[in-house]
Amino acid sequence: MFQIREYIPLAPFTTFGVGGSARYFCEPECENDIERAYAFAKEKEVPLFILGGGSNLLVSDDGYSGIVVHPAFKGVSLEEETEDSLSLCVGAGEVWDDFVIWSVNHDAAGFECLSGIPGTVGGFVFENAGAYRQNCSDHIVSVDAFDIREGIWKRFSKEECEFSYHMSFFKKNIGRYFIARAYFNVPRSRTVRTRCAYKDNRFDFSKMFPEDKPMPSLEEMRNAILNVRGEKGMLIMRGFESFKSAGSFFGLPPVTREDFARITREAERLDAKKILDLAPWYWEQQDGSVKIAPAFLLEFTSFTKGYRRGNVGISPKHSLAIVNYGGGTAEEIRCLAEDMKKSVFELFGVLLVPEVTYVGFHA
Ligand SMILES: Cc1cc2nc3c(=O)[nH]c(=O)nc-3n(C[C@H](O)[C@H](O)[C@H](O)COP(=O)(O)OP(=O)(O)OC[C@H]3O[C@@H](n4cnc5c(N)ncnc54)[C@H](O)[C@@H]3O)c2cc1C
Repeated sequence: MFQIREYIPLAPFTTFGVGGSARYFCEPECENDIERAYAFAKEKEVPLFILGGGSNLLVSDDGYSGIVVHPAFKGVSLEEETEDSLSLCVGAGEVWDDFVIWSVNHDAAGFECLSGIPGTVGGFVFENAGAYRQNCSDHIVSVDAFDIREGIWKRFSKEECEFSYHMSFFKKNIGRYFIARAYFNVPRSRTVRTRCAYKDNRFDFSKMFPEDKPMPSLEEMRNAILNVRGEKGMLIMRGFESFKSAGSFFGLPPVTREDFARITREAERLDAKKILDLAPWYWEQQDGSVKIAPAFLLEFTSFTKGYRRGNVGISPKHSLAIVNYGGGTAEEIRCLAEDMKKSVFELFGVLLVPEVTYVGFHA
């Protein structure tokens, strides 16, 4: 039965495991419940925040003074199937990785590289989460969402969702839409359809699955991804060493060629060997700009893998993952993130951009 509860601690609902309580909290299971949560927020004149899997959030130690809505719309339903594809409807509260497992087991190809990422389907659509050259939006047809400002339902076509790298129309209009379900049309295949060309300074998929060998099955690809994620400490799964984090805390928008040349010169001056050791750390974009790995820049600061300050620090396996080592607070995490940003800015003149949403912080 739908209930609005009071003073619910939010830390257990987040992967950082920090943060205070929600003044009000509810878990809608259907359209009607969402409308009731919306009416409640209006009546009490409090803000409303949607919390999915809590894997890309930093909740303040003071908690959230409005109503936190934790979607419980679950389930994957097969709407239609042809010889070539499957049409699916998936509830926003469905755990993303359960959906990936469902896809792999049903020969629905295209999500296997997104294995092992925490979060819900709603959060994935909002963030257009992606990894290893696949994105949540790749096979989306449409999305049903509730407009919290107007109090109406709308079905968004893929074009209207305005997906781009780690971005969507919903994220651009943060706080306005409640994503309730997503519709996908997924190609049917037992093996991966495109070889994963991902390569970084530790892993090269072209070596794991060479061209002269048959295409890997969806399951083989999923297992390879889980192992790579496990090695990077980016997997919260039994049998793997896991950390309380929100994954990569920072992103960095592509820089101009001039900025790239300046950053390279600065890095050479600081430590020319690192430039070679950490390759590849930049990727030229089609529009002439250059994408630089933020982790590369951090390697020139004191904020490197394994750094610790009190109860928080940086993962020993991934320089972009700020970690709560146990007993940490949101304030400790926020301060560490600020210092990391400042340090990179002072050395290279570029601003790292937090990828996590800050909840309940006062400007
Ligand atoms: C170990 C680890 C590894 C990770 N690896 C990756 C990775 O490889 N690639 C990647 O892209 N991300 C990664 N992430 C980040 C995170 O898992 C994704 O961003 C994920 O999509 C967040 O989903 P969520 O349900 O947890 O959203 P939450 O963290 O709960 O919320 C994030 C934002 O989405 C909004 N939101 C959530 N649900 C809805 C909804 N139903 N309607 C409207 N808005 C909603 C929230 O209001 C908030 O603004 C990682 C995180 C961790 C902890």
